[in-house]
Amino acid sequence: MTAKRIDGKAAAQAIRDQVAALVPEFARRTGRAPGLATVLVGEDPASAVYVRSKNRATAEAGMISFAHNLPDTTGENELLQLVTDLNADERVDGILVQLPLPRQIDSTRVIETIEPAKDVDGFHPINAGRLASGLPALAPCTPYGCLYLLKQEISDLTGLDAVVIGRSNIVGKPMAQLLLAENCTVTVAHSRTRDLPAVVRRADIVIAAVGRAEMVRGNWLKPGATVIDVGINRIATDDGKGRLVGDVAYDEAAAVAGAITPVPGGVGPMTIAMLMRNTLVAAHRRAGLRDPEGL
Ligand code: NAP
Repeated sequence: MTAKRIDGKAAAQAIRDQVAALVPEFARRTGRAPGLATVLVGEDPASAVYVRSKNRATAEAGMISFAHNLPDTTGENELLQLVTDLNADERVDGILVQLPLPRQIDSTRVIETIEPAKDVDGFHPINAGRLASGLPALAPCTPYGCLYLLKQEISDLTGLDAVVIGRSNIVGKPMAQLLLAENCTVTVAHSRTRDLPAVVRRADIVIAAVGRAEMVRGNWLKPGATVIDVGINRIATDDGKGRLVGDVAYDEAAAVAGAITPVPGGVGPMTIAMLMRNTLVAAHRRAGLRDPEGL
């Protein structure tokens, strides 16, 4: 079997187009466009690239981008004050503090200071708790993007066996909650799981969010499984440039799976698309409007 390649780039663009098409109606009803504030502390090159892409996507969707770039010497109190100010700013619907933060700052305190209604990353314990309780929440962008791709492939996930490899607060745990809400039978595997290949082999759906290059092999998969690869790992190449690979050995897995996301071009682009979606949804909820249809 050669698996279908799931095109995350196209899906992400479709969501961003959908958000952009809904912004004028929000602006007509409220007199303003939705606003997303990004906060970058320090000069980590990868973080700077991510934040620039998020600001660009915000502007492309017709929303307002408030970019705050702070030096890496910024103290925790200074950052908490900025977040408090953004919480109070009526023009701001979403607040995104790019992680990781420099070591003098406690990221848990920062996340807990973000107003939950503006927590478009979905990392605040209130949003995590609401998601786990089956209440309306802002769900973290990456797992929400994974769910969107899955549902494009399989419209009803009811009763399917899903294995999530990884239990981070950012990906693994919220992914498991989202799949449970879709009536999957969910197993969360992690570094202490015994006989991981055997656990993965029973899965109709495999979500790999580990951070280990090509760890999941083709012979771990049940034939026809749907595989969503969240991993982004840079490996060395002979030309010295390096290459991005996922947590799944793509070629081997594609020979067994029914459908699979590539790296790059799979889950990666979905994260920003879902950030745009969450910002628009947060804006609607803050304005007392119903969630936009179809997002
Ligand atoms: P993380 O916080 O480092 O968590 C990794 C998880 O993998 C942990 O739960 C860990 O288990 C588990 N793990 C590590 N080694 C394992 C092994 N040998 N067998 C089974 N489980 C193992 O990472 P993360 O933030 O969730 O990110 C995971 C990957 O997704 C990374 O490659 C990251 O770059 C990528 N990512 C991509 C996007 C995107 O936009 N596409 C967004 C976020 C993350 P323990 O809990 O037991 O330590």
